[in-house]
Amino acid sequence: MHSNKGTVLITGASRGIGKAIAEAFAKEGYNLFLCCKNNIDSLTAFAESLASTCGIIAETFRCDVSDEKSVSLMFEKMNTMKTGSPQIVVNNAGIAWYGLLTDMTSDEWHDIIGTNLDSVFYICKNAVPHMLQSGEGRIINISSVWGNVGASCEVAYSASKGGVNSFTKALAKELAPSNIPVNAISCGVIDTEMNSSHLSEEELMDLASEIPADRLGKPEEVAELAVNLATAPKYMTGQVITIDGGWI
Ligand code: NAP
Repeated sequence: MHSNKGTVLITGASRGIGKAIAEAFAKEGYNLFLCCKNNIDSLTAFAESLASTCGIIAETFRCDVSDEKSVSLMFEKMNTMKTGSPQIVVNNAGIAWYGLLTDMTSDEWHDIIGTNLDSVFYICKNAVPHMLQSGEGRIINISSVWGNVGASCEVAYSASKGGVNSFTKALAKELAPSNIPVNAISCGVIDTEMNSSHLSEEELMDLASEIPADRLGKPEEVAELAVNLATAPKYMTGQVITIDGGWI
């Protein structure tokens, strides 16, 4: 028996927050379209296991969300499938870069803005026409508290997530007459490879001690919020919802 709750596209679902979001939606009975740029084999194995344990359809795509053609191609493939274009989109794929702005190359800048912000434009541009046609749609963007307040040594990342926050508020106004909510989840420090790949155990513990909740957030907590947003009243739109253990 396959689900009729609808289909959710989650970008960057091969690990971390995106993977947890995929699992949470699967457990609720949604069908999944999952993509990533690099780890397609492990993503496909993960999708197959969700499909069999949760009785859903889970398709995977290798897609570089910073590349417009790659995103268009993914939508072409999705549109030929029986589940059709996704009713819910979670723009999660993202990358970080740490260092002084003056040490950053233009290529590194464009890589951050392309992956974190241009991607949201490419995905929404392709997804929204189908949402309007079917009368069903929701957009959830995964942002960061650095998009709210800015971080030293993460200027490009902060700019990209600030862009995501404004994109969310603006598109929400554009789509509110069509009853399509657009919201963002602004994460504090969540325990994923994005942090553990560049911070030592000791640095992570120092960071946790600055957070009133006295710990890092879990990907599953962000996932729970994303699933709740998928059933929240549609009148709630244009919101940037922070989940950071009381940090910022
Ligand atoms: P992560 O563990 O590094 O995972 C990033 C995911 O994005 C991976 O699945 C990766 O897949 C995918 N990805 C990267 N570049 C891509 C591209 N060009 N095209 C398609 N997929 C791509 O990071 P995370 O911590 O889960 O972060 C997820 C989101 O949460 C990001 O938007 C991040 O900015 C945001 N966030 C995280 C934190 C945090 O503390 N962790 C805080 C605030 C916001 P492949 O490498 O397999 O392609």
